[in-house]
Amino acid sequence: MLPMLMLLGLSLALLLVAPIVLTTGRWQVRHPRIALTLWFGAFFAGCTAAGASVLVAVLTAVGVDERMSHAEGLAATVIAWLSLIGIGAIVAVVAAVSEPLAGSHREAVQAFAPLVSSREQRRGFVLARFQSEAPTAYAVRRPEPMIFLSSTIEAALTPTQLQAVLAHERAHLRGRHDWAMRIAEINAACLPPVLPAGAALRRATALLIELIADDTAARQTGAANLANALSRLSEATDDVGMALRAERLTARRWPSSHRRRIPAAVRI
Ligand SMILES: [Zn+2]
Repeated sequence: MLPMLMLLGLSLALLLVAPIVLTTGRWQVRHPRIALTLWFGAFFAGCTAAGASVLVAVLTAVGVDERMSHAEGLAATVIAWLSLIGIGAIVAVVAAVSEPLAGSHREAVQAFAPLVSSREQRRGFVLARFQSEAPTAYAVRRPEPMIFLSSTIEAALTPTQLQAVLAHERAHLRGRHDWAMRIAEINAACLPPVLPAGAALRRATALLIELIADDTAARQTGAANLANALSRLSEATDDVGMALRAERLTARRWPSSHRRRIPAAVRI
């Protein structure tokens, strides 16, 4: 019984306490990649510990022997059944949540598709230009990796700023950031709303993937170009978050321009 309780305690600590520890301070904004790796590392380790505790509970119940008292045998059986019911409930929630999430991406693609004015195959993705009054860029990985670029964002930014935006969107595609968001959404749906861990992981993931994509784009195409693009878009859309991201980029030191390697796929 003790190993099972220890595994259960470890999984609860990793799934519920780690998010609190990892949101303390402001170091995550400086090191978003490390923060996201630690957070998801704690999440998967917590899930593994929870799975192992269920396995131990079932094995204990199956292997009830004469050395166990009647009460211990009964407790092992009850815990094993409760664990299996818990797994069933989680599987049901995951199935219920993941389909609408996949659907929301499909809807976005379907909404943009009729407005697409040109498609250009680039290395690793299709660049789709579409007519819209909103200055926006959007990356999707399914049904195929695509970056949508609106006519208004192209008119609002210079070519070097557009390159920076494309590098940012390409970083989302290459980093599989849609998967990180989907796991965070499913985790939030599985935990009761009274526990802040699920919502905290979802919020942190949404912010950290933006910062990680910003850092990649800044290294590849120049921090000043991306910061200028974000400032311009912030003014056009009243999005304060973009202005703060631009400020963060200008406050950091970056490799000099001659060490920059602009990927051919994002060149305008
Ligand atoms: Zn982004």
